[in-house]
Formats: sequence, C-alpha cells, structure tokens
Amino acid sequence: MAVSDHVDFNGFMEGVKRRNPYQPEFVQAVQEVAEDIFDFIGDKEEYHEQQILRRVAEPDRVVSFRVCWEDDQGNIRVQRGWRVQNNNAIGPYKGGIRFHPSVTESVLKFLAFEQTFKNALTGLPMGGGKGGSNFNPKGKSVREIMRFCQSFMTELYRHIGADVDVPAGDIGVGGREIGFMFGQYKRITGHFTGVLTGKGLEYGGSLIRPEATGYGAVYFLANMLAARDMNLEGKITVISGSGNVATHAAEKIVHLGGKPVTLSDSGGFIHDPEGLTLEKIDWVKAHKTHRRGRIQDYVEQFKGARFHEGKTPWHVPCDVALPCATQNELLGDDARALVANGCIAVSEGANMPCDLDAVHAFKAAKIMFAPGKAANAGGVAVSGLEMSQNSARRSWSEGELQQMLKDIMHGIHQRCLTYGDRGGGYVDYVKGANISGFKKVADAMLAFGVV
Ligand code: NDP
Repeated sequence: MAVSDHVDFNGFMEGVKRRNPYQPEFVQAVQEVAEDIFDFIGDKEEYHEQQILRRVAEPDRVVSFRVCWEDDQGNIRVQRGWRVQNNNAIGPYKGGIRFHPSVTESVLKFLAFEQTFKNALTGLPMGGGKGGSNFNPKGKSVREIMRFCQSFMTELYRHIGADVDVPAGDIGVGGREIGFMFGQYKRITGHFTGVLTGKGLEYGGSLIRPEATGYGAVYFLANMLAARDMNLEGKITVISGSGNVATHAAEKIVHLGGKPVTLSDSGGFIHDPEGLTLEKIDWVKAHKTHRRGRIQDYVEQFKGARFHEGKTPWHVPCDVALPCATQNELLGDDARALVANGCIAVSEGANMPCDLDAVHAFKAAKIMFAPGKAANAGGVAVSGLEMSQNSARRSWSEGELQQMLKDIMHGIHQRCLTYGDRGGGYVDYVKGANISGFKKVADAMLAFGVV
C-alpha cells in the first residue's frame, strides 16, 4: 500500500479508532473502504487539502432518541432509537430502518457509511443514512408493533422528509412496519409525500421492491460469471438467511437455472441436497413471514433435508455462495472452507456478512467476490425508483422496473470494473466498488467547498 505524503494509513485508522471508541463495526467498515482508496487518493492533492477522507469518515449527524411504548400487559417499555444521517452530497439521505436487539450506534454508523457508497454506485441521486432501534419485534403482537412504530415515528418525523431523508425497511422492518410508520407520519404532518420507501402498492409503493435486493444480488453474480463466460445453469448455491433477501435470492437462482441447497436462520441451517424449488421457497416465505416460524421446521415438511443446529452453511460444498442473513456471519475459516470446497464466486446479499479476514481470504484465492455495497444495491435502487415514481405521481409497470433493475445492476458491475480490473482476468470488486462509490461522493463534496 502506497503511503501518501500527507497521512499514513495507520495514523488515519488510529484517529478513527480514537474518535469512535467501542464502535468496532463502524471502525471495521471505515478500514475496509480506507484500505482500498488509500492508493487511489495517494497522488490526488485536492482530496488531501480538503480533508475528504477525514470528512467522509465522520457522519453529518447522529440523532438518538427515547422511544416509549406500552405493551399488551400495560407495562411501559423504553427503547432507544437512532437516525444516522451520514452524507447527503449527492442526494437526500437514504437508507433503511432496522429493529433488532443487536442494534447499536456503531452498527447503524457502519451501515450508514456503507450505504453512502452503495447509493452512489447505483448511479441514482441518493445520499446515505440508516436508522433503527434495539426494539425486538420477535414475540410481539401486531398491536405492540404498531404502538412501537407510532412512537418511533413521533420523534423521527421531525428529522426526515421527501427531499431531506427517506428511510426504508431493513431487518425487522417490512411492509407492515413501513405502513404503521407512514400512517403516523401522515397523521402528524398532514403531508402525503414519498417520505418512506417500501410502501404498500395501494399508497405509493413500487412493484418489485420486495424482490429487488435478492434478485439484484443474483443479477450481480450472473454479471460476474458472464464476464468469465460462465452462467448459473446447474450451479450448486449455498445461501444463508431465510428472510426477504435470502428467499428472493433463492428464487432468482432457480429462475436462472441454479440449484439453491441451503437456507438458515439464527437457529441453524437446513441442507436440502435435492435443491429448493419455487414451491419450497414459497413455503419458507410464508412460514418465516406470516407464521413467524423457524427454518428447522423445513425438514419435517420436505423429506431428504437435514437441519444443522447452531451452524452456518459455509462448509457445504458449492459452486457459488450468497450470504444473506446479517453482518459478520461468514468468518475467515468459513471463507477458506468455501474456497477449498471449490466455490468460485460469492455475492453478499446482506450488509458486511463477511468479516475482514474472510474478505482477505477471498481476495488471496482470487475468486469472484462481490461486496454488499455493490451486490445488494438492487433494493435501494428500486427504492430510488419508488422516490422517482412518487415525485412524478405515477407508477411504472413490473416489466419496466425489472428491466431497470437489471440495467442498474449491470451498470454497477461496469463501474466496479473501471477501478477493480487487476488484469489477467482478475477483478477486485471490493476495490472497484469502494473507489467508484467514494469518487462520486468525494467529487461532489469538493464542488461544495468546506461545508
Ligand atoms: P429479514 O429480517 O427479512 O431476514 C433476516 C434473516 O437473517 C432471517 O432469516 C434471520 O433469522 C437471519 N439472521 C438474523 N440474525 C442472524 C444471526 N445472528 N445468525 C444467523 N441468522 C441471522 O432481513 P432482510 O432479509 O431484509 O436483510 C438481511 C440482510 O440484508 C441484512 O444485512 C440487511 O441489512 C441486508 N439488506 C437488506 C435489504 C432489503 O431490501 N431488505 C437491502 C440491502 C441489504 P431469524 O428469523 O432467526 O432472526
């Protein structure tokens, strides 16, 4: 790694660590991007003079607030809510809301940081943000979830707006929660605007938004394979998670002729050597979403499948892998096992599912590795298209949107090639995505002067 005259990499990271104590996820995310762009900015005087790297690694603001709600037994419960508005250099802040007990300021700062470059990569005018709460929706009644969402929005509404900050769903926040929050926003402000995405089709939502992240991750995978004259036909595919992203990724793998053989949840993973069909995937969707069931119940439903309690699926031999559950779910040893078992490509459906050790292992083995900020950008891209439809007060057809999603994923792949092509047929997609996303944001920041 070249060391610039102005600041060395270790010195920069020491500063990030010092300013963000007890925020390991955020530090990890900054390190991953900084590692890749340090060489790129080495000889670019303007970036150094204007302290662009330092400014990019500091969120515009972090809003934290109390959320009180009443459970069904009449107990008063207190949660913490956040909105991290990371960077709006190229458009209004945009990024999901996560409800999960593991949510902390560090997790949301890492997600908002990643989101900034991901959104830039889509080519659409969206800045980066993320929000959420340590509220655990599991085991809560629908009324409790509604009351929580209303209370959360009663504070959040003053920080967001169609041209300011446009949140969407994420883990624990699906169409139902978006509906509750949009209803409360409208009730408080009296404005019917495109202030949230992932809305129901009846009130301004976009077709294919639920499918977009999983489908997009598979389109990106298909683009990587196509660049090497390969395709998904017959490819054994290992997938983690069984939520929105995982099930739609599995669906698109089947559409394109591949064979998904695993899904997982926080209890363990199922291995179905015969492959998941569209019918089996539909059962999982209904079981996990509507019945709030566990993935282990799959083995009672479909013969020949096995459940592996408390395990992740990365040791199952496969051709391609899609981590689609959560951050840091695929570690260095898992990555080495995947490579040893013949895996040729990994596409991150989730955000930062592979830890730094795993990313380094994939890079060392020179397999095709698509980072989340490129591979899972399909969701936010269709959210961006939802914003456009809301502004224009119109709706595009499913066919139009499918084509736009495919084109956007192809465009992201091309942008990654611009800075990631290492020659000899090897593409460093992490580097390509980081530099391409960073450059767009950094150049906009340069245009604004010191603000
Ligand atoms: P869902 O809530 O629909 O599903 C999450 C899945 O991950 C569930 O199967 C859940 O299992 C599993 N999971 C959660 N924590 C763990 C854990 N510690 N170990 C193993 N499995 C776990 O979320 P999404 O599918 O929407 O999101 C998944 C990932 O994709 C997240 O990283 C999210 O940020 C990212 N993403 C999502 C987008 C979207 O459009 N939805 C857009 C871009 C990225 P369980 O049921 O047991 O909790």
